[in-house]
Order: sequence, then structure tokens, then C-alpha cells
Amino acid sequence: MPSGVITIAYIIASAFFILSLGGLSAQESARRGNQFGIIGMIIAVGATMFHQEVGSYVWLIFLMIVGGAIGALLASKVEMTAMPQLVAILHSFVGLAAVLVGIASHLAPNPMQGAELIIHEIEIILGVFIGGVTFTGSVIAFGKLQGVIGSAPLNYPMRHKLNAGMIGACVLLGALFIAGSAGTSLTALLLITLISFVLGVLLVMAIGGADMPVVVSMLNSYSGWAAAAAGFMLSNDLLIVTGALVGSSGAILSYIMCSAMNRSFISVIAGGFGVAEGTVVTSADGEVGTVTEIFADETADMLSMAQSVIIIPGYGMAVAQAQHIVRELTEKLRSQDVEVRFAIHPVAGRLPGHMNVLLAEANLPYDIVLEMEEINEDFPKTDVVLVIGANDIVNPCALDDPSSPIYGMPVLETWKAKTTIVMKRSMAAGYSGIDNPLYYKDNTRMLFGDAKASLSAIASAL
Ligand code: NDP
Repeated sequence: MPSGVITIAYIIASAFFILSLGGLSAQESARRGNQFGIIGMIIAVGATMFHQEVGSYVWLIFLMIVGGAIGALLASKVEMTAMPQLVAILHSFVGLAAVLVGIASHLAPNPMQGAELIIHEIEIILGVFIGGVTFTGSVIAFGKLQGVIGSAPLNYPMRHKLNAGMIGACVLLGALFIAGSAGTSLTALLLITLISFVLGVLLVMAIGGADMPVVVSMLNSYSGWAAAAAGFMLSNDLLIVTGALVGSSGAILSYIMCSAMNRSFISVIAGGFGVAEGTVVTSADGEVGTVTEIFADETADMLSMAQSVIIIPGYGMAVAQAQHIVRELTEKLRSQDVEVRFAIHPVAGRLPGHMNVLLAEANLPYDIVLEMEEINEDFPKTDVVLVIGANDIVNPCALDDPSSPIYGMPVLETWKAKTTIVMKRSMAAGYSGIDNPLYYKDNTRMLFGDAKASLSAIASAL
């Protein structure tokens, strides 16, 4: 295929990717955004297949079938609750691909000379370094989200100095890579690869439980920059554009999440936030206190007598797959003239927008689903709050206990409502591993059990 036609196809694919991002910015248009993304990707892959540099169609088609089949199988089987892990592991592939492209670009015969060659070599160093950090960092993020690795931050003395030393060593090795002979250059590049792998592990191991959302979106951003670097190495404009789109949108998302969690962007990247594993933070006066239990039929009575109800969904709603029964309950209450609204915390669940996706899947009307800042002031005039499998996002320690690891993170101030009913299976802590004084408050009631079973019992009682 003539290169001009491929360039036009790449421009059209880029336009579809931009439309896709635009669509994904709102729930109503998200499905269309995804469709644009799929069309863009089909055009991109199709045009690349006809690139003059493609030598063997047998290998290309074989690898596309094997990779595509594994991807389709995994994506169709994955539970919504395991989606963040899938995203993390997919980021690791982008990082590894950038590393391999970098090493292969260095080994391939290269007619470039002078400034052009130096620029190409800088691209290789950046691609390998960013790709290496993304690869191992994403594998560790996968392990933490999957629960294979503990969520507590790994803290050790002189951590920041060690990280800075490793970055400095990569800069020196980069200079050696550019100036050295063929043999020295390869050794320098392999050492950069090794150091970036270690750095990726250390950076993400140092991030504690509640800060993981930002890390996942940071790794998303890194994977974009790694892809853009690979695009420069391969002189592929589409890869550069796509990588830059992913890199910058991931960086913006990370910044938004940092603001939502009241965290400094730089300190989350440098790591070391969170809580030591096994730590249990007690209520403000040091007493764990007692909890007041409630059952499904009493909850149903309370809900039907209320005028206004706010539902706060959290990770437990995703685990229980309770979104459809939540819609049924909402419809029943609304038919009895009870005002029902949803309050969504920006880091609820395990994925940005996790709760919005589940509620949209259950066809709940968008206009009753509100963001934290839109609804947080309404709790004092609310009769009943139903907390469905949420914990960290409703923890008052974040506001009133400076010693708490989540201190400073804005939370949904549910305890200001007349009554809060918390649905969970036990007194276990949430993702950040800390106890929640909300459960011991006088106006809180605990409804123990699986969220789906409890909600079904409430719906039948209603
Ligand atoms: P949490 O993890 O704080 O709490 C979830 C609660 O759900 C648990 O206390 C658990 O208690 C309960 N639960 C689990 N399964 C069920 C079930 N089947 N039925 C009823 N309850 C259940 O979740 P939140 O949504 O409150 O907060 C999100 C946390 O995850 C934050 O710390 C956030 O930083 C972190 N995070 C968020 C990401 C994101 O992008 N949104 C990504 C990575 C981490 P029990 O076991 O007793 O039932």
C-alpha cells in the first residue's frame, strides 16, 4: 500500500481516538466513545498490516490470532471486580513492548549518523527506561490489587536517595550508551533496563493501600509515554499520537484523583504513603466501642418511612454484584415517594468510575447519581443513608484524626445524616486496612451479611 494512503489511514485513526476520549468523558456518551475507539483501532491495525516493512504475513497473522484470542478470552471472563488488575497487567505489556522495541532498535542495522543518530539513541534510552519502570511497576500493582502482595507501603531508610541514585546511574549509563563502542553500548542499555526494572518495583512497593488508585492511573500514563517513545524509535506517527493521548490523559486523571484525595502529586509518585500492614486505628478516644445491629425488615421500615435516602455504593457492592437489586430497591422506594439519590466518591471501588459503570449497567437514571462534592452538604437533611459495602470512603478519621494514614482525604460525611445503615459482612477493614469509627457512632446501624442477600431481603420486605 502506498505510504501516503497509510498516513491518511493513521490520521483518520487518530481522529477516532480523539473522538473516543471525548465520548468517554461522560457516562451518556461512553458507549459511543468505546465504539469510536474500536473503529480507530481496526483502521490502525489494518493499515499497519499493509505497511511496506511488514515482511512475513504468516508470523503476523499467527501472532495476531494467538494474542487476540488470549485477550478476548481474558476480557470476556474477567469479573468487574478484577478489572483493575487486568488494566494493570495490560499496562505491563505496553512497558515490556517498549523495552523490547528499544533493544531491537539498537541491535538492528542503522544508517543514521550525527545528530539524527544521537536523537534516535536518546529515544531508545527513554523508551527502555520508561518502559522498564512501567513493566515491573504494573506487575507489582497487579500483585497488590490481586492481593498476592500486601497493600502496605514498603518503607526503608534512604529510600528517596536510593531512587534518585538509580535515576542518576541511568543518566550516566545513557551517556555511555551514546558515546561508547558497540559492545559497551549494549551493556549500558541492558544495565539501564535492569535498573529501570528494579526502580519500577521499588516505586510501586512504596505506595500504600489507599493511594493505589493514583498509581494505577500514573502507570496508565507511563504506558502511554512508553508507547510514544516506541513510536519515535519506529518512526511511527500513529504510535506517537496514540501514546501521547494515553500519556497525557492518564496524567490528567492522576492529577484529578490526587486533588480528589487531597494528596500531593509528587509525593504519591515518590511513594511511601499508606499504613503499615495489620495496623488497626481505633476511634478517636482510643476505644473501639460497640456497634448496634439492625436487620432487613427494620431497615425496610426505616427506608419506607424516610423522605430522603442517600445510597453510598462501595467496593462491596461490586463484589456482591448487587447493582441490579439496588435498582429494584430504588424503584420501589421512589414509587412510595421516597427521594433516593446516590453519592459517588471518586475512589470508590477499585477503578476510577467503578461505581458509575455498575450503576449504569443496572440502568439507574444518571440524574440521581451525584458526585461527592455535589451531595456532601446534603447529609444533615437526609433521613437514612444506606452504605453498601463501602468503608474507606466513609471513614471520619480522614477528617478528624491527624494520625490516620488517610487523614486529609475528603470523604462522604454520612454520619451527619439522621441514621446511617452500613451493609457489610463483618467488622473487617477496607482496602487501606484501617478501622472505621463510623460503625460505633450512636446514629449508625450495622446490617451484616452479603450485600446482595441483604438488599434482596429489604426489597421483599418493602
Ligand atoms: P473498601 O475497600 O474500603 O471497603 C469495602 C468494604 O466492602 C469492605 O469493608 C468489606 O467488608 C465490604 N464487602 C466486601 N464484599 C462484600 C459483600 N459481598 N457484601 C457486603 N460487603 C462487602 O472500599 P471503598 O469503596 O469504601 O473504598 C475504596 C478503597 O479502594 C479506597 O481505599 C481506595 O483508595 C482503594 N482503591 C481504589 C481504586 C480506584 O481507582 N477506585 C483503585 C485501588 C484502590 P466485609 O469484608 O466486612 O464485608
